[in-house]
Amino acid sequence: MLTHFHEDHVGGAAELAGSTGAEVLVHRLDAPVVRGEAPGPPPVFEDWERPLHAAAVRHLPQGEYARPPQVTEVDGDLLDFGGGARVVHVPGHTHGSIAIHLPRHGVLCTGDAVAASPVDGSVMLGVFNLDRAQAIASYHRPAALDADVVCFGHGDPVLGRASVVLRESADGYPAPA
Ligand SMILES: [Zn+2]
Ligand SMILES: [Zn+2]
Repeated sequence: MLTHFHEDHVGGAAELAGSTGAEVLVHRLDAPVVRGEAPGPPPVFEDWERPLHAAAVRHLPQGEYARPPQVTEVDGDLLDFGGGARVVHVPGHTHGSIAIHLPRHGVLCTGDAVAASPVDGSVMLGVFNLDRAQAIASYHRPAALDADVVCFGHGDPVLGRASVVLRESADGYPAPA
């Protein structure tokens, strides 16, 4: 499952699929970018995000990216793994950002819709969003789910009472006007 089209989440997908035979799934709105058919729309930065992003980009390999993977498109589906995996659309970080909820195991993977701060581990809205207001609106969707463990694209997971931690964090963001 690719949670969205950003290179740091997609770069190894074709190689992994080739060596394991795994199917690669992505939300239909991010699929054309992952397939290399459309450019990825760039983030709309908050001023404080610019130096963070410049530092992050220095860690990415330069030059050509790996060949794009073959993908299967999903859209709010219930998938047959992990005891029944629910795809939760959380647009804002990218248009096709998704979280994956495994209710049977009490596990939620948020992709970059939510993150844990590298400074103090606190749970926060993801950074480098295409549409921050939409990302804030979407934050309440995963926060409403029941999960004991939440894993992020970046930062350490929350182990235990994760839904409560997520809801407290989401409530700290102003509702979009
Ligand atoms: Zn991202
Ligand atoms: Zn990321």
